[in-house]
Amino acid sequence: MGFMASTPQRSSWAEQAAQALSDAGYRRGGARRAILELLDEQPCALSAVEIHEELASRNREVSRASIYRVMEELEAIGLLQRVEVGRGVVRYEPARGGSGHHHHLVCDRCGRISPFSDAGLERAIRRVSGTLPLQVSEHEVVIHGACATCAAA
Ligand SMILES: [Zn+2]
Ligand SMILES: [Zn+2]
Repeated sequence: MGFMASTPQRSSWAEQAAQALSDAGYRRGGARRAILELLDEQPCALSAVEIHEELASRNREVSRASIYRVMEELEAIGLLQRVEVGRGVVRYEPARGGSGHHHHLVCDRCGRISPFSDAGLERAIRRVSGTLPLQVSEHEVVIHGACATCAAA
């Protein structure tokens, strides 16, 4: 007997996002699908320029305007997290709720961004959140500095 695919595959973020966009009245399309799949593959956030370049390297020309439009649609329905990294650069990553929640380290010299998470930090934020005059829905932490490569240069 061969391999039995008995466990139902939990649908990917790209599939959920495609469904949510179409439920929200946006039409499905190849460009949209390619953007969703690219974002879903990433461990962290990409800029619109990087999305454009990566798609082009896969022979998938999607205009910058289309990329920004899809980012806006995804943000509007809460499926995309916008990461402000300074210098006017904005990056985007899938909003996955609990799993994969992380924060960001940004190198101010080369612009590299990497994810980090820390249980103690999450506990501290939760504790502080309980004392704030705000019903806290989300949080993000961006730590700036020089990455190992730039610091050594
Ligand atoms: Zn990230
Ligand atoms: Zn760097």
